[in-house]
Amino acid sequence: MTRGLECYDCGYTSDDQTESRCRCGESLWFSTDTNEFAWPTEAWTNGMWRYADVLPVSKPVGVTPGGTPLVRADRLDEYAGCRLSLKVEAQNPTGSFKDRGSAVGVRHATEIGRDWVGTVSHGNMALSTSAYAAAAGLECAVFVPAETPEQRLELIARHDPHIFRVEGDYGRLYEQTLALEAPITFVNSDTPLRVAGQKTVAYEICEQLAPSVPDAIVLPISSGGQASGVWTALRELEAAGLIDDLPRLYGVQAAACDPIATAYREGRESVTAVDAAETIAVSIANSDPPSGTRALAAARATDGAVVSVSDDATRKAMDRLATAVGLSVEPSSAVALAGVRKLSDAGELAADDEVVTILTGSGYKERYETDVESRTKTIDLEALEAELEGILEGSEGDVSRQTNDR
Ligand SMILES: *Cc1c(COP(=O)(O)O)cnc(C)c1O
Ligand SMILES: [Zn+2]
Repeated sequence: MTRGLECYDCGYTSDDQTESRCRCGESLWFSTDTNEFAWPTEAWTNGMWRYADVLPVSKPVGVTPGGTPLVRADRLDEYAGCRLSLKVEAQNPTGSFKDRGSAVGVRHATEIGRDWVGTVSHGNMALSTSAYAAAAGLECAVFVPAETPEQRLELIARHDPHIFRVEGDYGRLYEQTLALEAPITFVNSDTPLRVAGQKTVAYEICEQLAPSVPDAIVLPISSGGQASGVWTALRELEAAGLIDDLPRLYGVQAAACDPIATAYREGRESVTAVDAAETIAVSIANSDPPSGTRALAAARATDGAVVSVSDDATRKAMDRLATAVGLSVEPSSAVALAGVRKLSDAGELAADDEVVTILTGSGYKERYETDVESRTKTIDLEALEAELEGILEGSEGDVSRQTNDR
């Protein structure tokens, strides 16, 4: 049911599935005919492949992404200021939503007879693309900024792709790989194949909540690839008659690197590069996002917004997720919850709004500054019983552990 590539902005269409940029400069995405589409009868164990009919590839590859849980997190409602559900994308095979796009991109490369795939990434996407390339038996070229931490490179190197640490401008590197003549399928963050895979998260959210439709979806934004995927999926579901109203799309960025939020705040039509400072949200620190303007258009077209949050607010949100819901996520995911709180404080989200936040990536890949000292106690074995009595008494009347205060 996939027809070809199309530009959301100027309407240009193309049948060449290896293109990624429109003549107008914007990114292309796949156009999909969903007139015949109904919720699949396929098992949820098939993950994202239950939507194979609306994808540009016909068969799975590697460990199945998707089919991730949607958790109603009522213990966080008061903190969030709305009725909150969490889409746990950390549960994908390599720990982030990137697996959905990598699977489609790698599978497409094999279908058109290519031996190589490639990507330009700060971390999660390189890890994911390398893993799916390994599963398909393809060669993989990974381009990362020269200053990428060893710890992250070590995770990627396990799948043994060709890793290039590139010195020079990341935005130019990104565009140059897409313009290469070489027979390598580049599945960069906002390329059509990746966006097609990543749209399945919104299909899942809507199917998991059907027949009701969330009032809002809140997600972290870096390149704008995932936001584009979610937007195109919602448009497709509306065209298929499976949802009546589009949820409002809200993007959240780290204040230290927020080109899209800045353009939104200033009422601009397009996103331009900003000078970025350091942030703990490393996976979303793109100062020159290739699909920034498309993500901005998605927020505006759905009556949403793009906001940014401080690292401090992100740390608090990350802690809430870990201590009140039992979910360890990376800072780049926690920004979305910090964003929810900011949006409800600003009156954008109401207490009875059904809001879905996408938790994009796992917190089990890197070390964060958790205060182990204040959260542990060394005791003598002989003192075991006395210690337990002490904490049981101390916790009386405190069973809720005060998770719901604002
Ligand atoms: C890639 C990534 C994002 C941002 O996605 P874009 O498609 O680049 O906007 C958010 N969170 C995590 C954990 C990521 O890896
Ligand atoms: Zn165009």
